[in-house]
Amino acid sequence: MSEAREPTTFDFKAEVKQLLHLMVHSLYSNKEIFLRELISNASDANDRLRFESLSQPDLLADDPELGIRVALDPEAGKLTVSDNGIGMSRDEIVEQLGTIAHSGTARFLESLDGKAQKDSALIGQFGVGFYSSFIVAEQVEVLSRRASADAGESVRWTSTGDGSYTLEPAEKEARGTTITLTLKPDEKEFLESYRVNALIRKYSDHIAFPVTLGVAGEEDDESGEPVNKAKALWARPRTEVEDEEYVEFYKHIAHDFKDPLIWSHNRVEGKREYTSLLYVPSAAPWDLWNRESPRGVKLYVQRVFITDQATQFLPLYLRFIRGVVDSGDLSLNVSRELLQQDPVVGVMKSALTKRVLAMLERLAREEPGKYATYWKEFGVAFKEGLAEDAGNQEKIAALLRFNSTASDDLEQERSLDGYLEAAGEDQDAIYFLIADTPEAARNSPHLEALREQGLEVLLLSDRIDEWVMQYLTEYRGKSFRDVARGELDLGRDESEKKVEAELTKEQKALLKRIKRVLRDKVDEVRMSDRLKESAACLVIGEQDMGFQMRELLRATGQEPPETVPSLEVNLDHPIVGMMTETGEEDRFEDLSWLLLEQATLVEGRLLDQPAAFVRRVNSLLLGAGPVSE
Ligand code: ADP
Repeated sequence: MSEAREPTTFDFKAEVKQLLHLMVHSLYSNKEIFLRELISNASDANDRLRFESLSQPDLLADDPELGIRVALDPEAGKLTVSDNGIGMSRDEIVEQLGTIAHSGTARFLESLDGKAQKDSALIGQFGVGFYSSFIVAEQVEVLSRRASADAGESVRWTSTGDGSYTLEPAEKEARGTTITLTLKPDEKEFLESYRVNALIRKYSDHIAFPVTLGVAGEEDDESGEPVNKAKALWARPRTEVEDEEYVEFYKHIAHDFKDPLIWSHNRVEGKREYTSLLYVPSAAPWDLWNRESPRGVKLYVQRVFITDQATQFLPLYLRFIRGVVDSGDLSLNVSRELLQQDPVVGVMKSALTKRVLAMLERLAREEPGKYATYWKEFGVAFKEGLAEDAGNQEKIAALLRFNSTASDDLEQERSLDGYLEAAGEDQDAIYFLIADTPEAARNSPHLEALREQGLEVLLLSDRIDEWVMQYLTEYRGKSFRDVARGELDLGRDESEKKVEAELTKEQKALLKRIKRVLRDKVDEVRMSDRLKESAACLVIGEQDMGFQMRELLRATGQEPPETVPSLEVNLDHPIVGMMTETGEEDRFEDLSWLLLEQATLVEGRLLDQPAAFVRRVNSLLLGAGPVSE
């Protein structure tokens, strides 16, 4: 960096401009949260300094008591939040306050339409953070000095939040950051000490560092006593923590704007000692599917912050869980590599996984409405557990929710226990169907015979359903049965079953003739026991790779093995009657192709040769001559 002594002006990155605009407009009714955000950042900065000082004790120097100070200057119209934490260098300030770290934020913001931009819920997706200062401030100044063993520099950042900011070198003796808001004329309430005091207690009571409040020209209340409890929330006994405190603490650690759905706070004593406080958020982050997106819990060792993203304590399918783990057993200088190998961590991981599953069971049992929200937001990630966590499969399975033929809406609310209870003891299979969309599943011809017999079918349409259902073969002694695969045995009386052997000679000949037309497009052409209204459907073999798996493979750049389906034909269907009667070979071929094409379309798939299909349909509609190739 050049040694410019003069202030230099920079433009914010485009996404910051958008975010600032969005924030000021959508969060106005919640403007007081800016204070929570600034104190939250100050607390993080102190945490980070304490962590770095583990290996570099000099960083603490002669100022080892970490704290946060809020100062009001009513005359000047200024509110200041200071910490003596890690601070920011010039480069860090540019990086942290001039851009938004999350890759993809800009794209996400662009995807919001004008109407959605007014929705304050959306803004919560980012964690509102530092920029919320601009809701109440006409100017924000950040004065910071990075903690460092050698003589560091300090820097002043200022902005009015209108598209650019200014940077200049500054004089700041002590390490840390001081953020000064020059409040807008209408926001003078934040200069009144009783109001600010109440806000600190409301939003920042759980902050583990003392937060003191002072007013320019006045002696501090009770000689600098902290306004907050200044004790790590998770270290307090459960009975002494109010729900509101848990909720505020969640917002602090998760950088989330919304309340969590549920939490679980536990202390383990004895051979191992650790405390965990785990939360289920109420909305999936917009980048839940981005593999690089931040995840994991916040790790402390004996109250000392170690890392924000400890991914070793929960399995991947629970990556949406937020919270804190404080271990008494790990060493203070644990590194990422050590965490990976430490057997203590493995033991904690399996215990914490059980805790999360128990918490989800409680949510499902006690608050089904909230559980439905959970499922909608995180169900698809959670399902991966069927593949990832064989040891807990039964518990995971009990927490699954499905769309089902038992209800007409497209909500996923059927549990396996609910299914089995409705099915009764005698039914020995759990029937399910996988399709591309909920609508395609619900309208699938594969359901016709099961519907007629009053058998309930679970309808699956998430991208990964075929993959995860391979792992789930049994639940409470009942086996799973994919109704679109293999021969369908509905456990009926032998006498009711249609058997291939009982087909007439004409019927057998007809099936053979269709197969001769369709050749290698189908594996077999056979009579169907599952169709009632539809003329035909496609069926794949028990071991064949289905459509979803093929798509998943393709997405990873691999070419899946060919799956050739069989065509099942409803011999009672009028079209089949028509085929038997037609004397024209070409007409017969058209109708054969149409059977295959119908069966493909009804699954929501594209045809290999849509143009040929359209010609065939038109020629039939017009009663013109056949067009088969
Ligand atoms: P978030 O806290 O969600 O990351 P913010 O916009 O609030 O987002 O802050 C952006 C970044 O700026 C922080 O991640 C941190 O690196 C830095 N930062 C903000 N406030 C401070 C502070 N008081 N001391 C040190 N760094 C800070």
